[in-house]
Amino acid sequence: MAVLSIVLPSYNEEQNIENTAKVLSELLAKEQIDYELVFISDGSKDKTYEKIEKVAKENPHIKGACFSRNFGKEATIFAGLQITTGDAVIVMDCDLQHPPQVIPQMWKLWQEGYEVVEGIKSSRGKESLGYKLSAGLFYKIMSYLIKMDMNSSSDFKLIDRKVVDVLLELPEKNTFFRALSFWAGFNTITVEYEVQERVYGESKWSFVSLLRYAITNATSFSTLPLQLVTVMGMFSILFSVVLAVQTLVRYLMGTAVEGFTTVILLILIIGGFIMLSLGIIGHYIARIYEEVKGRPKYIISNVTENVQGEVIGAWKRR
Ligand code: UDP
Ligand code: MG
Repeated sequence: MAVLSIVLPSYNEEQNIENTAKVLSELLAKEQIDYELVFISDGSKDKTYEKIEKVAKENPHIKGACFSRNFGKEATIFAGLQITTGDAVIVMDCDLQHPPQVIPQMWKLWQEGYEVVEGIKSSRGKESLGYKLSAGLFYKIMSYLIKMDMNSSSDFKLIDRKVVDVLLELPEKNTFFRALSFWAGFNTITVEYEVQERVYGESKWSFVSLLRYAITNATSFSTLPLQLVTVMGMFSILFSVVLAVQTLVRYLMGTAVEGFTTVILLILIIGGFIMLSLGIIGHYIARIYEEVKGRPKYIISNVTENVQGEVIGAWKRR
């Protein structure tokens, strides 16, 4: 019988673990789907991992692991994928904002032969204005850079074992799961869902963390910002040609004394462009530096007993 694995990234979610484990196991038992839940504690500072160990003891279908520190949700997803053994894997938030009722639907589509089932938000749920603005800007930039509609896409999706293996084979350290499943291709279908409200705890995203996430993912998935440097360069060249002509004409006409405003403006504009360009290039060099160092995406410090593998630094399946 086919097994469904569910990966649940958890960062300071002690209030959610037990409830989520209960809701999911009841639902999957009712739907008669053979399952496995994989909770990954992302270096939580609260009792998240203790709760995971507790539910794993009570239910043999539940596995868990914890990171040595906070590595971010991306790392959590990939660690989860690595641990899963199922024929299809669903990734979802452990705060139940991704409605579990959609799982049977995804599972059915998988049985029909779809290899990637993308969860698409039909609404973003209740969010503060600040979040809406920053998330809105984030998705606008992302959609443009990655050339796919990121506005309603999410990390809630089902992927076939084949696709899991493809993603796990990727050598890059800066991954962006949401876009990688599009990138991988395969037989894809979308499912709409309504984002639920968080019952316990609070969102882990702040404006700054979202911005950092946007920049990291944009640079790991697109080289357009680098091309932007060329575009800016061309604009300044065009501008300087116009100014050069004007300056020469004035010189020849003998009215070339004033013009400090132009000089100041030119220095400011060109200086700004150069610094911005250096910043963009610097960002890519930083990315390259990180990739070249080849450090693992995450370090697992502990796993529950039913997980097979070693727990030495970067965890590898035996
Ligand atoms: N999360 C994580 N590591 C982090 C931040 C978040 O594993 O550094 C998990 C978190 O526990 C949750 C999911 O990612 O299961 C989504 O986070 P959150 O609910 O805070 O985001 P939102 O739903 O507000 O976008
Ligand atoms: Mg959430």
